[in-house]
Amino acid sequence: MGQPVILTVDDDPSVSRAIARDLRRRYGEQYRILRASSAADALDALKDLKLRGGRVAVILADYRMPQTNGIEFLEHAMDLFPNARRALLTAYADTDAAIQAINVVDVDHYLLKPWDPPEEKLYPVIDSLLEAWLATGDREVADIRVVGHRWSEPSYQIRDFLARNLVPYRWLGADEPEGRRLLEAAGVGPESIPLVVTADGRALARPGTAEVAEVAGLSTAPNRDFYDLIIVGGGPAGLGAAVYGASEGLKTLLVERRAVGGQAGQSSRIENYLGFPDGISGAQLTDRARRQAGKFAAEVLNTREVVGLRTDGSARTLTFADGGEVSAHAIVLATGVAYRPLVADGVAELTGAGVYYGSAATEGPSCSGSDVYIVGGANSAGQAALFFARYARTVTLLVRGDSLESSMSYYLIQQLDRIDNITVRTRSEVVAAEGEGHLQAITICDGKTSLRTTVECGSLFIFIGAEPRTDWLGDIVARDERGFVYTGPDLLTNGQRPPGWDRDRDPFYLECSVPGIFAAGDVRANSVKRVASAVGEGAMAVTLVHRYLEAR
Ligand SMILES: Cc1cc2nc3c(=O)[nH]c(=O)nc-3n(C[C@H](O)[C@H](O)[C@H](O)COP(=O)(O)OP(=O)(O)OC[C@H]3O[C@@H](n4cnc5c(N)ncnc54)[C@H](O)[C@@H]3O)c2cc1C
Repeated sequence: MGQPVILTVDDDPSVSRAIARDLRRRYGEQYRILRASSAADALDALKDLKLRGGRVAVILADYRMPQTNGIEFLEHAMDLFPNARRALLTAYADTDAAIQAINVVDVDHYLLKPWDPPEEKLYPVIDSLLEAWLATGDREVADIRVVGHRWSEPSYQIRDFLARNLVPYRWLGADEPEGRRLLEAAGVGPESIPLVVTADGRALARPGTAEVAEVAGLSTAPNRDFYDLIIVGGGPAGLGAAVYGASEGLKTLLVERRAVGGQAGQSSRIENYLGFPDGISGAQLTDRARRQAGKFAAEVLNTREVVGLRTDGSARTLTFADGGEVSAHAIVLATGVAYRPLVADGVAELTGAGVYYGSAATEGPSCSGSDVYIVGGANSAGQAALFFARYARTVTLLVRGDSLESSMSYYLIQQLDRIDNITVRTRSEVVAAEGEGHLQAITICDGKTSLRTTVECGSLFIFIGAEPRTDWLGDIVARDERGFVYTGPDLLTNGQRPPGWDRDRDPFYLECSVPGIFAAGDVRANSVKRVASAVGEGAMAVTLVHRYLEAR
């Protein structure tokens, strides 16, 4: 983003050149000197700087300009850069008018033309303006900025997407002054949120995640049409397969529809993964795995959903939601599971506006002092309770069963017990959610007495009934009644190989009912739903891919 700016605007070209020359001579090493020949041009330059995250230290405006005079221009400029110090350039004859105007609007100084010698008449004024500006602590902003509303579902989606993909960004409320300034600079109103402003000043109103991925530098298109191995899903199983596949010389592509890291990426602290005795956050684990896959030159595609799979002779071809296709010798399905929607009045309408699926780490600080409810009794819900207890006034875990013992690890139950602001309510189900524009209350039904109580609730996080969402596979590979993919020994019925199996060997351990298509991690029928086992299966799948390729 570079140096802060000193901007001058004067419609007389010779004055404009002269002042820019004098400013450059003294301040050119530390400041960028910009000049404009009309108020309109200067405002355009300021809007552009605003979108690019630039800083403006001082604005010098000629008082007498056609169309917009210097005072009116400075008023507009203040809307965009309130910290910039402002001075008017006036001819002697205009001094009185300028002084009157200075009393009305907040201008720091006026400078008489001509300003010779600048050492006496110009530089002392500019020095004091710069000193005042430096004291405001105006900071450079280079990251992506998102202007949105806390209770807007599309705003939440963009925030969550950036956070889960570990893209640094700055969040600005559309009702905060800086948010309003960015909307104004982009020439749009609050109806255009979320507004995403890139580090190089591009403004995207209500963009989709694919557009945001592109401006954030996340790859969205494959570099080739054909690979040795394509992995569908970027959770621990997919990332494990990508690291092993690429490191063993296979041309490897990983396709992820939302954010690499999968469910594990949402975990605030994974404490049972080997090698991390103090635990590791899902975000850290994801970052390391993604860098490791990149180091071995695995390609990672983001925001691309796979919706179809077919065999073309020895090739296995995947179709993307937008109709594109890509093929490989072998496929690893690592699509994991996703939370089942909670069916209760009002929940669908308030999703993203106080009701969230999964951990939504971005919401932590906003839960300060509020009452948070978490639905679910498994480890993921327990971890979320520990995480939100750091911010919220109270955290209540709503569990449908009689106790946590059968669904949650012992170490987590003990940790929950030790925290004063966490309560566990068993035999409890959420039956309704309500609120004007955002969640304000939920109704809980006691499973034993059927008694319903309505309580105030700031945020509701849902961790229930993970399902595989593999409908897009249709009949291509055999799946169980819930959609989990059968592999290896599970495909043999009384020692018989699956229908249509055309090899004179049994399916390999992680191989599906079609040779060359493998499944790893949570999506696999009868798998252990753990990070370590998903990573292990990803690695093992690659060994089996090698065997498949050798035996073809
Ligand atoms: C909050 C939370 C905390 C957890 N904590 C722990 C813990 O402490 N210890 C532990 O061992 N386990 C923990 N688990 C469980 C663990 O995270 C999972 O077992 C593990 O992530 C499974 O990995 P996976 O790669 O098989 O699937 P997932 O992690 O589910 O990843 C699947 C990926 O595939 C993508 N995908 C799905 N369909 C498509 C498609 N059609 N096209 C493209 N991409 C697709 C998804 O977007 C997702 O990113 C936790 C889970 C959660 C939710």
